[in-house]
Amino acid sequence: MRLAIRFTYHERHTLQRRLDTTETFVESASSYYQKGVLVSEEKDEYAPETCCHCGGLGCLYCNKSGTVMVLQPSRKCRHCGGDCCIYCGYTGWERPLRE
Ligand SMILES: [Zn+2]
Ligand SMILES: [Zn+2]
Repeated sequence: MRLAIRFTYHERHTLQRRLDTTETFVESASSYYQKGVLVSEEKDEYAPETCCHCGGLGCLYCNKSGTVMVLQPSRKCRHCGGDCCIYCGYTGWERPLRE
Protein backbone atom coordinates (compact mmCIF):
# COMPACT_ATOMS: atom_id res chain seq x y z
CA MET A 1 0.00 0.00 0.00
CA ARG A 2 2.78 2.38 0.89
CA LEU A 3 4.46 1.48 -2.35
CA ALA A 4 1.34 2.31 -4.33
CA ILE A 5 1.05 5.73 -2.72
CA ARG A 6 4.68 6.49 -3.35
CA PHE A 7 4.35 5.50 -6.97
CA THR A 8 1.35 7.76 -7.44
CA TYR A 9 3.18 10.66 -5.84
CA HIS A 10 6.19 10.11 -8.07
CA GLU A 11 4.00 9.91 -11.15
CA ARG A 12 2.21 13.14 -10.30
CA HIS A 13 5.50 14.84 -9.64
CA THR A 14 6.88 13.76 -13.01
CA LEU A 15 3.72 14.87 -14.80
CA GLN A 16 3.87 18.27 -13.12
CA ARG A 17 7.48 18.70 -14.19
CA ARG A 18 6.56 17.79 -17.74
CA LEU A 19 3.74 20.34 -17.76
CA ASP A 20 6.10 23.04 -16.51
CA THR A 21 8.56 22.28 -19.29
CA THR A 22 5.82 22.41 -21.95
CA GLU A 23 4.49 25.71 -20.67
CA THR A 24 7.95 27.23 -20.70
CA PHE A 25 8.49 26.02 -24.25
CA VAL A 26 5.17 27.42 -25.52
CA GLU A 27 5.84 30.72 -23.74
CA SER A 28 9.27 31.22 -25.28
CA ALA A 29 8.03 30.12 -28.71
CA SER A 30 5.18 32.64 -28.68
CA SER A 31 7.48 35.43 -27.54
CA TYR A 32 9.85 34.58 -30.37
CA TYR A 33 6.94 34.69 -32.76
CA GLN A 34 5.88 38.13 -31.47
CA LYS A 35 9.40 39.43 -32.02
CA GLY A 36 9.19 38.22 -35.60
CA VAL A 37 12.07 35.79 -35.24
CA LEU A 38 10.02 32.89 -36.51
CA VAL A 39 8.63 33.16 -40.01
CA SER A 40 5.66 31.27 -41.32
CA GLU A 41 6.58 27.80 -42.51
CA GLU A 42 4.06 28.02 -45.31
CA LYS A 43 5.81 30.90 -47.03
CA ASP A 44 8.35 29.48 -49.46
CA GLU A 45 11.17 31.75 -50.44
CA TYR A 46 12.19 32.01 -54.08
CA ALA A 47 15.05 33.94 -55.61
CA PRO A 48 16.02 34.51 -59.26
CA GLU A 49 18.85 32.35 -60.62
CA THR A 50 20.45 32.41 -64.07
CA CYS A 51 18.73 29.97 -66.39
CA CYS A 52 21.15 27.10 -67.15
CA HIS A 53 19.62 26.38 -70.54
CA CYS A 54 20.42 29.75 -72.08
CA GLY A 55 22.98 31.08 -69.60
CA GLY A 56 20.95 34.23 -69.05
CA LEU A 57 20.31 35.09 -72.71
CA GLY A 58 16.64 34.24 -72.51
CA CYS A 59 14.90 31.18 -73.87
CA LEU A 60 11.60 29.35 -73.99
CA TYR A 61 12.12 27.76 -70.56
CA CYS A 62 12.75 30.98 -68.63
CA ASN A 63 10.11 33.02 -70.48
CA LYS A 64 12.92 34.87 -72.27
CA SER A 65 13.91 36.53 -68.99
CA GLY A 66 17.25 34.71 -68.60
CA THR A 67 16.44 33.93 -64.98
CA VAL A 68 14.18 31.46 -63.20
CA MET A 69 12.71 31.71 -59.71
CA VAL A 70 14.23 28.90 -57.61
CA LEU A 71 13.23 27.73 -54.13
CA GLN A 72 15.86 28.83 -51.60
CA PRO A 73 18.42 27.66 -50.74
CA SER A 74 18.91 27.14 -54.46
CA ARG A 75 20.48 23.92 -55.71
CA LYS A 76 21.39 22.59 -59.12
CA CYS A 77 19.04 19.89 -60.42
CA ARG A 78 19.97 16.53 -58.89
CA HIS A 79 19.05 14.68 -62.06
CA CYS A 80 21.22 16.57 -64.51
CA GLY A 81 23.50 18.69 -62.31
CA GLY A 82 22.62 21.79 -64.27
CA ASP A 83 22.70 20.30 -67.79
CA CYS A 84 18.91 20.67 -68.04
CA CYS A 85 16.41 17.82 -68.17
CA ILE A 86 12.70 17.17 -67.91
CA TYR A 87 12.83 17.12 -64.09
CA CYS A 88 13.99 20.70 -63.78
CA GLY A 89 11.88 21.95 -66.68
CA TYR A 90 15.13 22.56 -68.61
CA THR A 91 16.20 25.28 -66.20
CA GLY A 92 19.03 23.26 -64.59
CA TRP A 93 17.76 24.13 -61.10
CA GLU A 94 16.17 22.06 -58.37
CA ARG A 95 12.54 23.00 -57.70
CA PRO A 96 12.08 26.00 -59.99
CA LEU A 97 8.87 27.97 -59.61
CA ARG A 98 6.27 26.80 -62.11
CA GLU A 99 3.48 29.11 -63.05
ZN1 LIG B 1 16.65 30.33 -70.37
ZN1 LIG C 1 17.61 18.72 -64.56
